[in-house]
Amino acid sequence: MVKQTFPSKRAPIYADVPDEKWNNWRWQLSNRINTPEEFEQVIPLTDSERKALSAAHLFRVDITPYFISLIDPDDPNDPIRKQVVPTEVEMAPFTAMMEDSLAEDRHSPVPGLVHRYPDRALMLVTTQCASYCRYCTRSRIVGDPSATFSRSEFEMQIEYLQRTPQIRDVLLSGGDPLVLAPKILEEILTRLREIPHLEILRIGSRVPVFLPMRITEELTDILQKFHPMWLNIHVNHSNEITAELAEACDRLTRAGIPLGNQAVLLAGVNDNVHIQRQLVHDLVRMRVRPYYLYQCDLVEGAGHFRTPVAKGIEIIEGLRGHTSGYAVPVFIVDAPGGGGKIPVGPNYQISMSDHKIILRNFEGFITTYEEPTNYKPEDAAKPGLKRPEPGQSGISGLLDGDHLFIKPENFDEVHDRGGTQHRLKDASKWVPLGIGSGDEQEEDREQD
Ligand SMILES: *Cc1c(COP(=O)(O)O)cnc(C)c1O
Repeated sequence: MVKQTFPSKRAPIYADVPDEKWNNWRWQLSNRINTPEEFEQVIPLTDSERKALSAAHLFRVDITPYFISLIDPDDPNDPIRKQVVPTEVEMAPFTAMMEDSLAEDRHSPVPGLVHRYPDRALMLVTTQCASYCRYCTRSRIVGDPSATFSRSEFEMQIEYLQRTPQIRDVLLSGGDPLVLAPKILEEILTRLREIPHLEILRIGSRVPVFLPMRITEELTDILQKFHPMWLNIHVNHSNEITAELAEACDRLTRAGIPLGNQAVLLAGVNDNVHIQRQLVHDLVRMRVRPYYLYQCDLVEGAGHFRTPVAKGIEIIEGLRGHTSGYAVPVFIVDAPGGGGKIPVGPNYQISMSDHKIILRNFEGFITTYEEPTNYKPEDAAKPGLKRPEPGQSGISGLLDGDHLFIKPENFDEVHDRGGTQHRLKDASKWVPLGIGSGDEQEEDREQD
């Protein structure tokens, strides 16, 4: 194996902390930095940071000694500093700012369980994290111990999952599931594994980044009892990639857990193709697959981190084709109002006819792909193959013939235009002929 070298850092103030303490995750958690006085000992604060730290209603601040050591104390624009140290601009409201921009709470059949997509659900298991990101998408609850989920809510989450067999994938998030006591995490995973239709379990965690010493063998021994388990970490800049993080990732991948990375596109942190290229290269060197790059959500406190969506497209343009496909994440806008994740990227399709498609590559080379003229698709889904949930088949459902159109809200009322039932207005006229099966046509007729 090629030896990978990544740096390891400790702020001067921690020079005398014995290694047993430094490498102990409990010590790291109980020595987190959150007051202006503590900050001043590690990094001299700017006026704006000092003001933010004494503001009322500030989103929770806590930074592990390990993570704050990665900040260059002399650089007020350090990319790690911006992610975790608050400034005054955090208090500035902006157009379209929302408390719950992804409408997660509206998509929660029970508190803490977001069921937005047909076959998978997001389970919030705690509101606590090892350190707090200033742009947190869930700052409405995260960091607040009193907002955490109760025992009875956990039982309701399990009960919903048990009676919803269409869910085959549960993603544990929060807060950060890996700050839970190992016994509690084990209990949650055990209860989930008792549900036969849950095929895979996933964890979203920034603990390997904030607190890599938490990824102990005791923890990976627990996790690997629940395979297939997948885990996404959250790294935004190469400065977060250290020897300690690489070792934590190695322990996780050796336990058979495939690792992905979810980054957020942040102004002043990583809004540049060169920074992103370095990041994805460093990630794949640790066997972490870049999974998503997110457009920053419309959430309180995050306004100054937002970039135009075009910046993300430009970054993908600079990665796809230029580097290993494994290193290219999918750029995502998580739709405000609860539409879920929408992939956005450069357009590679230039034109098409009935038998030809014109494409361009990353270099601007334009080519024609001659399509077959004798292709016959297999029509019906083979018996035994799972069909998508009828209500959520979406655009794929249009292609599949489940339905003929998707109408905006109140479309029928708007187009009714008043008047009475007359000789040309027979509802049977706009029932699709020959779309879908006969039964569906009957249902359409009844709805009309
Ligand atoms: C992100 C997310 C998921 C997982 O989405 P994938 O695209 O499958 O990774 C599931 N549920 C909710 C509510 C989410 O926000």
